[in-house]
Amino acid sequence: MLFTDSHCHLDFQPLNEDPNALFTQCIKANIHRIIVPAVSPKNWQQVLTLKRESRKNLTILPCLGIHPWYLKGLTFQVLEQLAAMIEKHQEHLIAIGECGIDGKIAKEQNNLVQQQQFFRQQVLLAKQYHKPLIIHHRRSHNELIEILKQEKPQTGGFLHGFSGSYQQGKTYIDMGFKLGIGGTITYERAEKTRKAVKRFPLDTLVLETDAPAMPLSGEQGQPNSPLNIIKVFEQLCLLRVETPEDIATQLEVNVDNIVHV
Ligand SMILES: [Zn+2]
Repeated sequence: MLFTDSHCHLDFQPLNEDPNALFTQCIKANIHRIIVPAVSPKNWQQVLTLKRESRKNLTILPCLGIHPWYLKGLTFQVLEQLAAMIEKHQEHLIAIGECGIDGKIAKEQNNLVQQQQFFRQQVLLAKQYHKPLIIHHRRSHNELIEILKQEKPQTGGFLHGFSGSYQQGKTYIDMGFKLGIGGTITYERAEKTRKAVKRFPLDTLVLETDAPAMPLSGEQGQPNSPLNIIKVFEQLCLLRVETPEDIATQLEVNVDNIVHV
């Protein structure tokens, strides 16, 4: 069985401290692909450089985007810079992201309109360059779905860190997205999400860790690691009726259907 971590911030501390040791462990654990979204202009170059760390049996797949937590002080000029970077590096990029809308931050920073504008522009870039999207959500399904329905990106993508109801997940699936299943399902209290994950067709799910963020249940306070993709997989297997082999095989196909590498 081979695994892909479809969302991991390898350029963040502490994951960037000893990448060689980490990648050796990943290969041992049969993790053969790691998708690395970017969060702000400050880390675009780092994320692009990480691609060079790819080795036999482990491919690092970079994406470029602007995360809704990092909009403070950014003007539209940054979106032009993003477009130029995508144009220049398009053959190496597998998606646009991480982008999205965060309802909690929108409240705290009173910046919903700016978040909507930045998300919409990144959806348009995804359309222009025929790239899938990596979408961040938190208390923002309605706002995201509204823009996706208006702009209709054709290349789908990953809804990162899926949590929500079956119906909410289904809306993204119907627009060509796969749902990123991560540490959330290791928490007993995430009952609605766990119930939904049982019901979705297997060809709509992908695994992710969001490392070093989103620690698994029982590991709060510790940095998350892409190695935990195995624990997320085991938890998913407990929720599903298919065999682990069938689940692992289908999850890989699901990634292939979006990223084409
Ligand atoms: Zn992320």
